[in-house]
Amino acid sequence: GIRNLSDLKKVAVIGHGNGGTVYKVHHMKNHSFYALKVLRFNENGIGIRQPSMILEAEILKRVDSPFIVKCHAVFDNGNCTETDNGDDLSFVMEYMEGGSLHDVLRENYRLPEEAISLLAKRVLEGLNYLHGMHIVHRDIKPSNLLVNDKGELKIADFGVSHIVEGRIDATELNAGTCAYMSPERVDPERWGGENVDEFAGDVWSMGVVMLECFLGYFPLIGPGQKPDWATLMCAICFVEKLEMPEKASTEFQNFVRRCVEKDWRKRATVKELLHHPFVNRKCSCISKGLENNECNFELDFGRRRKYFFLHLART
Ligand code: ATP
Ligand code: MG
Repeated sequence: GIRNLSDLKKVAVIGHGNGGTVYKVHHMKNHSFYALKVLRFNENGIGIRQPSMILEAEILKRVDSPFIVKCHAVFDNGNCTETDNGDDLSFVMEYMEGGSLHDVLRENYRLPEEAISLLAKRVLEGLNYLHGMHIVHRDIKPSNLLVNDKGELKIADFGVSHIVEGRIDATELNAGTCAYMSPERVDPERWGGENVDEFAGDVWSMGVVMLECFLGYFPLIGPGQKPDWATLMCAICFVEKLEMPEKASTEFQNFVRRCVEKDWRKRATVKELLHHPFVNRKCSCISKGLENNECNFELDFGRRRKYFFLHLART
């Protein structure tokens, strides 16, 4: 196990999110790499820390699934030498070398349906696990879907987003944070208030991400646009039906439609979607390495990242 934050040496900054920074760190005793997410709670950070947060962080450590990025340890305040701030929460996570789906999508690359099908299956398996533990992810989006060295895709940052959420005034949320939110999360009053089934929100977000994988751009707003908060809110709340790409198979179109059903009561559940023909397709792989029920995709993306390598075990 990881006992001390001081055993971890920061190697590089991987990226910044809302109120946090993610570092690549090296554990000096067991000689392996981890990702360290540090949430900063002070006047410059994400507001006041609540006592419940450490409890929620404890739940994180109990989550153990091949479809979820593992959280190995949580440090309160952190005996970390580099921070003199007493208000940090640090999460030691499994390091995902391959980066996120966001890295692929921001270059406007599109994924073939075969890849999306396997990807959707993994996300659904992950959500099925979390929902089974009565955990709502609340922040399914491309930057929270990570790929490791083996090419396995996993869900990251559930719970962390929960901890962060509610500490920020809604109007301060940047567009990136709410782009994948479901209509009932954006406007709960209209959709049943307290009675809203929060699990349905994760399904919506996943549907939007899968459509984005197909199109290569954020589907609620046309390509090439950088949406502001108000535009996004309107798109989510007022668009009656999302237009499906003509080139997509009917299976895929139907799958996405079942996810982005505006009324959460009519939306498909994770369990239903696991049986959907789109995610249970016979895979005709576009790349080498087809073995048993495993499937490798090597998508050549040119310039920035030579390969986005997805190894998606069919379950
Ligand atoms: P948000 O704060 O809303 O979650 P975000 O996901 O972009 O937004 P972070 O979660 O802080 O922000 O992540 C910052 C960057 O670090 C992202 O590019 C993300 O893909 C990457 N990252 C996060 N966790 C890991 C990990 N375990 N391994 C490798 N990279 C990671
Ligand atoms: Mg994240």
